[in-house]
Amino acid sequence: MKALRKVHAGPGGVQLFHDMPTPEPAAGEVRIKIIYASVCGTDLHIRDDGFPVQMPVTIGHEYSGIVDAVGEGVTDLAIGDRVVSMTAAGYCGHCNYCRAGLYMLCNERKGLGSFRNGAFAEYMTYPADRIFKIPEGVSMKAAALSEPLACCLRGALERTTITAGDYVYVGGPGVMGQFVVQLAKAAGAYVTVGGTSVDADRLALAKEVGADDVFDVTAEDPVAHAERVTGGHMYDAAFECAGSARALDTCIDILKKTGQLQQVAMYGKPIPVDLDKMLLKEIVLSNSYASERTSWQRLMNLLAAGKLQTEPYCSAVLKLEDWEKAFSMAENKEGYKILFQLHPEA
Ligand SMILES: [Zn+2]
Ligand SMILES: [Zn+2]
Repeated sequence: MKALRKVHAGPGGVQLFHDMPTPEPAAGEVRIKIIYASVCGTDLHIRDDGFPVQMPVTIGHEYSGIVDAVGEGVTDLAIGDRVVSMTAAGYCGHCNYCRAGLYMLCNERKGLGSFRNGAFAEYMTYPADRIFKIPEGVSMKAAALSEPLACCLRGALERTTITAGDYVYVGGPGVMGQFVVQLAKAAGAYVTVGGTSVDADRLALAKEVGADDVFDVTAEDPVAHAERVTGGHMYDAAFECAGSARALDTCIDILKKTGQLQQVAMYGKPIPVDLDKMLLKEIVLSNSYASERTSWQRLMNLLAAGKLQTEPYCSAVLKLEDWEKAFSMAENKEGYKILFQLHPEA
């Protein structure tokens, strides 16, 4: 089978193999026929040696697939089930974090597509207890973005207390920002999205998927905008999804006193933050790293209820052979998400 693998550090370390053996599921595992797999920033970091991996390894951790073989002892999954999975492929199971279900914080966590063969392949095997069935009516393409959506869900709904009637600000209308918009809307909040003059199309899509209010922060002062939109109340929560210190500072300015500031973007370097300004408003800073079981369960419920749209973010579908093009499209932020199709849908 075909598989895209990281085999050594340095240039040329990611290679496409055409003749990898198709894996057999061990006890407690199933084999998944991958239908779609999506390129993530992490995959680019792996290519560039900026993310730890155990080589050689097949990369890719965002996918949708169909169970096509079932290992011994697996009773809750059957051949033909449409599935997605958590990315905590391995963890110790007995540390305080594992006991709390926070597998992503376990010191022995082994991630899918970095420490265990991942989804940029025609087939992969995976432990059945980390797999979720895709709800009926949700397309394979839409489900392929479950993993980034689960991460956003944890940040938006499990690490804040936003609720109906809250004013929520999302800074940065990229794919993560737009997922947060939809999740905050599902929670009943009034949602404003701020972008810059280059974001016109993205702001329009944010509005289409549910944002109540979108605006260009370079055209209107964000504080004046916040005062106008919230009637002087200011935002209960602000999500920094743009990845810039300036955008973070804007979030602090437009929050109400005691507001919740949620870091969604990664900065890749230390950035200046005016902590005194936060102190004087008693602003609470939070963040989230990956996702936990509850995030996935909630996500499946919301997808089943038709509360979330992901297909508009599937910008291009390429063959695995064109992985270099796909990676460079992702790197140059051409569209939202770039998918590989490994098998036909039916
Ligand atoms: Zn990812
Ligand atoms: Zn552990």
